[in-house]
Amino acid sequence: MSDRQRPILVAIIGAGPSGIYAAEALTQQTDADVQVVVLDRLPVPFGLVRYGVAPDHESIRSIRNTLERTLEKSGVRFFGNVNIGVDLSVDELRQRADAVIYAFGAGTDKRLGIDGEDLPGSIAAADFVAWYCGHPDVHPDTDRTQTSVTHDHTDGHREHQQFADLIARAGSAVVVGVGNVALDVTRILIKNVDQLADTDMAEEVLAALSGKKITEVHVLGRRGPAYTAFTTKELRELGQIAGVDVIIEPSNLELDSSSQAVVGRDKVAARNLAVLNDFAARGPGTADRRIFLHFWTRPVRVVGVDQVQAVEVEGTRLDADGAVEGTGVTTTIAAQLIIRSVGYRGMRLDGVPFDDSTGRVPHAEGRVIRDHGFSPDEYATGWIKRGPTGVIGTNKSDAVETVHSLLADIADGAIVGQHSLVELEQLLAERGVTPLQMPDWHRIDAAEIELGHSHGRPRTTLAHRSELLAAADDGSTG
Ligand code: NAP
Repeated sequence: MSDRQRPILVAIIGAGPSGIYAAEALTQQTDADVQVVVLDRLPVPFGLVRYGVAPDHESIRSIRNTLERTLEKSGVRFFGNVNIGVDLSVDELRQRADAVIYAFGAGTDKRLGIDGEDLPGSIAAADFVAWYCGHPDVHPDTDRTQTSVTHDHTDGHREHQQFADLIARAGSAVVVGVGNVALDVTRILIKNVDQLADTDMAEEVLAALSGKKITEVHVLGRRGPAYTAFTTKELRELGQIAGVDVIIEPSNLELDSSSQAVVGRDKVAARNLAVLNDFAARGPGTADRRIFLHFWTRPVRVVGVDQVQAVEVEGTRLDADGAVEGTGVTTTIAAQLIIRSVGYRGMRLDGVPFDDSTGRVPHAEGRVIRDHGFSPDEYATGWIKRGPTGVIGTNKSDAVETVHSLLADIADGAIVGQHSLVELEQLLAERGVTPLQMPDWHRIDAAEIELGHSHGRPRTTLAHRSELLAAADDGSTG
């Protein structure tokens, strides 16, 4: 076969929803003959669908079935446990693929920038979510012998035992931020372990949550109830947890003229406000577990000596430009745990253009901008392209836009098929890296279902990398 007849090899970095939707868009077109390889540093695919969507949202988690079907398609391969930037550089990958699509998401948290933010007991939502979803980064193999894995991604992350200890001693928690992640975190903190037992949470996570004594969660919105980032379905769900009251001080729901204008033009804001009014109308209630929603409130200091004891908060208002300013009136909420749920942030990957001010890869319609011009073979999609916004499905249209640009460049002759997957496989073999592929995932999947059934649950997540690798092992390597 001459070079010109070769399929175009597209390597996608990141097997989360954005990467897999890009693979799907590439398989759904007939204009170009394309071979896709989707790479991930984790042994398993699905990214935030597995490690971000809350375990008690099984219907959203089941999107993995659709994503799995894409990875099974002819013309698509999944290579897990391949860490770009560690096992091979971005440049080495680019030299072995005709085009790359960056779909590695937004892997860290935004900071509050207040005193006490780093005290034990102050946790980024990104880490807490990773913990309760059973992410190997926060469930390291420290005391396990069976792993032969050399990757270690635990830098900057807290580990399982720290979460378990914090959960065990907390009676009250503060969650900062009024987005959907804040709602996820709040539900997990306030639900009884019985209310989580039918999820796929890892056994050690459930065990830690069973020792939980948290009876109060205080959620802080730095602006008013017209400015929430929740989706209404998720907000409504907060009021449907058996044995839990949601409490809002009615004066918090009074609208100033700017809030009224927002509610007048934004349907989601109006629907959210209606739900919040419904919560407030229920009164204080008598339940043992309570969620307090505080608006016009921001944290100004995390109080404690060697661990979090309280959060000092200040009243807020909007200034003439619509920016949040403090009123100077402060009060203190006793809490042993504070979860900072104020948004995610993209991380730099060596060899990839990155804009520190936005936390994103610079691009236009998915074409990566390098040295002030379009890079001929680089594309981006998902959170690393547009920032950490939108629901899972938003990544689909985003990926379609990126793939549209890529296909236009193929049609223009800017990208031609010069490489085959064999070159990448050879390099990985030289480096001693054996990618985990879909048959390996199916063995892991079966092991998780079997483990779950043995405990009377639909499935149980294997949280440790060593467990995932052991489950993937078909014995063929001896
Ligand atoms: P988000 O929707 O951007 O919400 C972040 C929240 O943090 C906002 O309320 C924001 O308030 C607040 N905030 C930011 N900086 C702050 C500061 N310095 N002090 C106090 N508050 C601050 O982010 P997210 O909740 O992390 O969610 C990320 C994306 O994933 C969203 O698009 C979300 O919808 C999606 N998601 C969806 C689901 C679902 O569909 N079930 C579940 C989880 C996540 P301001 O508005 O005032 O900035």
